[in-house]
Amino acid sequence: MDFNQLRNRFNFTFLSSRLGIQVLIFCIGFSLAHCQWQKSSESSSISSIQQNPSLASKHSQHLEWIKIKETVWIHRSFGEFQGQVYSANGLVVLSNKGAVVIDTPWTESQTEELFSEIKTKFQKEILFLLVTHAHDDRMAGVPLFHKRNIPVYSTALTAKLAKERGLGKTNPILDIQTRLPAGNQSVEVFYPGQGHSADNIVVWLPETHILFGGCLVKALDAKDLGNVKEADLNEWPNSVKRVLSRYTDAEVVVPGHGDWGKLDLLRHTIRLLVSPNH
Ligand SMILES: [Zn+2]
Repeated sequence: MDFNQLRNRFNFTFLSSRLGIQVLIFCIGFSLAHCQWQKSSESSSISSIQQNPSLASKHSQHLEWIKIKETVWIHRSFGEFQGQVYSANGLVVLSNKGAVVIDTPWTESQTEELFSEIKTKFQKEILFLLVTHAHDDRMAGVPLFHKRNIPVYSTALTAKLAKERGLGKTNPILDIQTRLPAGNQSVEVFYPGQGHSADNIVVWLPETHILFGGCLVKALDAKDLGNVKEADLNEWPNSVKRVLSRYTDAEVVVPGHGDWGKLDLLRHTIRLLVSPNH
């Protein structure tokens, strides 16, 4: 398979720079790893939360809302794994035209709550959903978005993995770097390379300087990287460094699980990767 075939396969149009070469390496890596991938749950972040009693003690099955700014809220949902409850973060961005949702809650019932609360709490219609990688704490609610005819966007790789894993269909319009307008707000997605998963992307909100790191980024109190079965431990620090150098003016960083903070979360993630046993 030559480069053009790979490029077409993943719908990547980014050719000309160093990043283009990284994409090629990534694509080859993906092809080699493909046969070993399994349908799986969010086991990686689960393990890190197991080390974090403050999160594990939150035994709520209802969605929680955490306000970052007037226009940006975390939707925190809860999922069960092996009899324990863990939390996961997604975002809701409010614009004058409607709401953008980044990642679905972990269950369908909490996704129903998300719909009704966006309606009652914010009086907004949902413009579209972005999913940041093909795991169920990001995508469990996707079928309900389809039921309501709300567009669901991802990268081509996430779309492919989601299909293989039975996580639902997504429209693969997102490239390595794509900015989508949403009324008086906008969202930029960036694929920094492999990390927690092969397909993890981050989302930047230029108007509010908020960075949604998703599962590429660990919370400050995370003591380890969790289950690294699908992770690329060699590339992960480089991917985080790319995010760090691109979004130097981030004021808030939201991890996939745990509390939000500042750019420290990225440095903490790199520290965990460089010296995992510290
Ligand atoms: Zn994940």
